[in-house]
Amino acid sequence: MIFHVLTIFPEFFEGPFAYGVVKRAKDAGVLEIRIHDLRNWTNDRHRTVDDRPFGGAEGMVLKCEPIFSAVETIWPQRRTDQKVILLSPQGRLFDQAMANRLKQNAELLLICGRYEGVDERVAEHLADEEVSIGNYVLSGGELAAAVVIDTVARLLPGVLGNEASSAFESFQEGGHGEGLLDCPQWTRPAEFRGWKAPEVLLNGNHGEIAKFRRSAAREKTAKLRPDLLE
Ligand code: SAH
Repeated sequence: MIFHVLTIFPEFFEGPFAYGVVKRAKDAGVLEIRIHDLRNWTNDRHRTVDDRPFGGAEGMVLKCEPIFSAVETIWPQRRTDQKVILLSPQGRLFDQAMANRLKQNAELLLICGRYEGVDERVAEHLADEEVSIGNYVLSGGELAAAVVIDTVARLLPGVLGNEASSAFESFQEGGHGEGLLDCPQWTRPAEFRGWKAPEVLLNGNHGEIAKFRRSAAREKTAKLRPDLLE
């Protein structure tokens, strides 16, 4: 899968994809991440990407022309499995189900807003969807793009070491997941400051372990995220 990111801060992405499973998947060629500098699609000497909002208001707005030019250069003819996503606090809330849907595409292009946001014509006439990572306002779409890419990337076949491992995780529906929280985990030492790991996990009885994990996952979900049990 190919992820494109359109940003005025390309250096921002030197960090987020340089570690762990995402880095390994990149190195192995399972996925590709291409960072595009929005200023490459400006025509003036100052490489202007923003302007004052019509009607007068605080701050600046990202202009539409460089963004349209960028997307139309990257994909001169857009296929249906090449999706443009505008990161925006006004978008649909990103969750595991959306990540599963997005991973079906061959390519995603994520547009990172800045300042007071992006000229609305990008949302209306260029983006396939507006996506928010939560009900709060970030200073830019870069962190949100990194969140979306990281989440979708680890669902791709061959990214996690064990093929099955994402099927058991929190929020994952279908497969083995029930859309609940993952079960709690323990590792050595079996006893720490008098707190013991559950005995049942140490006895090697796989039937009992599976039963314990299901009930522990339900219990934790009921305690912390009762909304998921609906
Ligand atoms: N004035 C806008 C906020 C602009 S924040 C409003 O109140 O709706 C600047 C940019 O940060 C946005 O264009 C968007 O790309 C990004 N951003 C901020 N919060 C976000 C969120 N919760 N999810 C995704 N992107 C976000």
